[in-house]
Amino acid sequence: MRFLVISDIHANLAALEAVLADAEGEWEQIWCLGDVVGYGPDPNECAALLQEHDHLTLSGNHDWAVLGKLDINAFNTEARAAIQWTQETITEETRQFLTELPPQQVVPPLALVHGSLRQPIWEYILDRRTAALNFAEMEGETPYCLVGHTHMAVLFVEETEGTVDALAPDYGKPVALGEQRLIINPGSVGQPRDSDPRAAYALLDMEAMTLEHRRVVYPIGQTQERMRRHNLPARLIKRLEHGW
Ligand code: ZN
Repeated sequence: MRFLVISDIHANLAALEAVLADAEGEWEQIWCLGDVVGYGPDPNECAALLQEHDHLTLSGNHDWAVLGKLDINAFNTEARAAIQWTQETITEETRQFLTELPPQQVVPPLALVHGSLRQPIWEYILDRRTAALNFAEMEGETPYCLVGHTHMAVLFVEETEGTVDALAPDYGKPVALGEQRLIINPGSVGQPRDSDPRAAYALLDMEAMTLEHRRVVYPIGQTQERMRRHNLPARLIKRLEHGW
């Protein structure tokens, strides 16, 4: 079976639509690693669009904050303002959808989490040291782990126990899933933070045993215009065109 692996949509419908169009016909199920809402202008539309497809979706820290399951004071001013706007904006259906999302899921040989195996909702795997600590937590039946949360597409490879390499994705080129254990981040659909404003995603083919990172251009101005209309923080609007 083939999976569309996405994360951190953050209520950016234009970006989600671009990813779905770009990968059309290349997958059977969506795996979404959390943060469906927060930051962006289209929380209800993104939740509805996901549910039109066969999907397995996790909850992230922003989803939890919107539901009141995390203290919003743990977030910076702009993120907090967007969370409060999202709380006022989501419908009962969206709230119900978010409530039912699990924080992690095991689908051998893969483990799926938003942040990390050690802290599924909150830890950022940004460096090789943190990745090594998480490889140490991996169970035998799941040598591959999919994570989101950092908004940075990356492939952590365990060379030997305790030694980890961090590889920048080679976009459009499938990588074989082999003997080495991997922590894979598809990057963010709706708010990339690696200086590349294009929406990020990955395709996972469990028959060919390959993973492919991809990027796709989307109409950023459309999302920014909708954010302006809803008076979302200016800094959150600006950052989309720079990819940070
Ligand atoms: Zn996020």
